[in-house]
Amino acid sequence: MNSSSFLQILEKTYYPGFFTTDKHDLAHFGVDWGGILTPNPLAIVFPKNTEEVSSFLKLCSANNINVVPSGGRTGLSGGATASNGEVVLSVSKINSINEVDVSSLTIRVGAGAVTQNVHERAAKHNLIWPVDFAAKGSSQIGGNIATNAGGVRVIRYGNARSWVLSIKAVLMSGDVIEFNGDLEKNNTGYDLRHLLIGSEGTLAVITEATLKLCPKPENLSVCFFGLEDMHSVVRLFSECRKAFFQISAFECLTDVCLQSSLAFTGLNSPLETKCPIYVLLEFEDQTRQPDQLEAWLSQVFESGLIKDGVLAQSPREFKELWQIRESTPESILTGRVVLQHDVSVPVSKLPDFSRSVLEKYKNDYPDFEVFVFGHIGDGNLHIFIRKPEALDTATFITRCRSSDTDLFDFVKKFTGSVSAEHGIGLLKKHALNYSRQENEVQLMRAIKKAFDPKNLLNPGKIF
Ligand SMILES: Cc1cc2nc3c(=O)[nH]c(=O)nc-3n(C[C@H](O)[C@H](O)[C@H](O)COP(=O)(O)OP(=O)(O)OC[C@H]3O[C@@H](n4cnc5c(N)ncnc54)[C@H](O)[C@@H]3O)c2cc1C
Repeated sequence: MNSSSFLQILEKTYYPGFFTTDKHDLAHFGVDWGGILTPNPLAIVFPKNTEEVSSFLKLCSANNINVVPSGGRTGLSGGATASNGEVVLSVSKINSINEVDVSSLTIRVGAGAVTQNVHERAAKHNLIWPVDFAAKGSSQIGGNIATNAGGVRVIRYGNARSWVLSIKAVLMSGDVIEFNGDLEKNNTGYDLRHLLIGSEGTLAVITEATLKLCPKPENLSVCFFGLEDMHSVVRLFSECRKAFFQISAFECLTDVCLQSSLAFTGLNSPLETKCPIYVLLEFEDQTRQPDQLEAWLSQVFESGLIKDGVLAQSPREFKELWQIRESTPESILTGRVVLQHDVSVPVSKLPDFSRSVLEKYKNDYPDFEVFVFGHIGDGNLHIFIRKPEALDTATFITRCRSSDTDLFDFVKKFTGSVSAEHGIGLLKKHALNYSRQENEVQLMRAIKKAFDPKNLLNPGKIF
């Protein structure tokens, strides 16, 4: 069916406001934060509930129309991008947030609920949904589930996968399935819920979910340390793991990232000494014995591991230290062409891996601006390459293809993953075979076919 006939069918079938073809809306909803790609959707639809999603997908299936599920579009891999005349299905109007079930510590939400709004609802009961990262003010629960989002507290709580009890989703056929009910225990065959988590919108459209919550940690502290190199960062990490407190975040950023974030936020550097690399450590001290913390801090300073450091002394300082870390990606991305990498290796291999990669960029791509930061406690490094002002975008992208190959060769050598958090989407398709064997990919294709035999849902993503 041609696109204008399908738009006429939509017009006849649905009410005003169900879809838009306004060119600003197409440009806005047609891409995510991955940048680089050009939006070209046919239309954007805004169903208000699961039934409307079901009827719409059935219609698309009957007419062989490709559909891109879309959440907050904060994804960084092009997963929610519609570049080939697809219809974007935004779940943003399915955004209900039910009351917290305080007996089971769960909350039922629409897939379009904004992550931060869910956090705020949970906070009223002194509870948290521990999936937490800088884009939480815009990202949505459906997107968090579809990407198995990680973030700054994975080291303590794990990824989104650990915090999703059940999922309601609609297949391309229009069939509605509640995956797993609200059961903590349910060993009845395959747990298909876990296939949907991290499926990047390729298997089904998530419309609702029951999320697990947990008590808010008490007595959190934040330190910001300056160090010499990644080797010291990993040594500090193992010291922290042996310490009396429980780590809830262990993040790092290089000096160029700190400077970018300070310029963006207008904050002053928290440290007097300029260092090559910094760590933000957040921990929960259940012992509540200040002497113990003081003794631990003195010991790490005396060991020479840390060149400078501060412990937040007030809620404001706590917030500002986090603001520096959380503003880092946005400060690099805003208004510039940036190629983003999101790789992981075993923590013990981080020093050699990062040294090899940075040397390669310095020697072979000396004009690239390279920003390294990330969730060190999870072995996860974000490597953002900003286009030099003097280089045109097409040449930059061509040269990035070559630098990507170099980076992925190192990832493979150090037994890592080409995408720790952001997914494959469109932008990392060429890298999938660095982290997955061919027979694994064949199994993934077979699963995709079972869910979406006509390959209409987010086609071309992942494979
Ligand atoms: C500044 C910044 C910081 C970030 N930090 C982190 C971080 O620390 N950790 C991390 O993991 N990610 C991070 N991200 C990436 C991004 O925020 C996450 O991947 C987030 O979970 C995406 O949610 P979203 O609602 O924006 O999804 P979108 O970008 O809209 O979509 C992402 C994918 O999910 C699919 N999808 C969306 N909604 C649905 C649905 N209802 N049903 C089925 N499929 C759906 C889309 O098709 C797409 O493939 C960051 C992004 C930015 C911009």
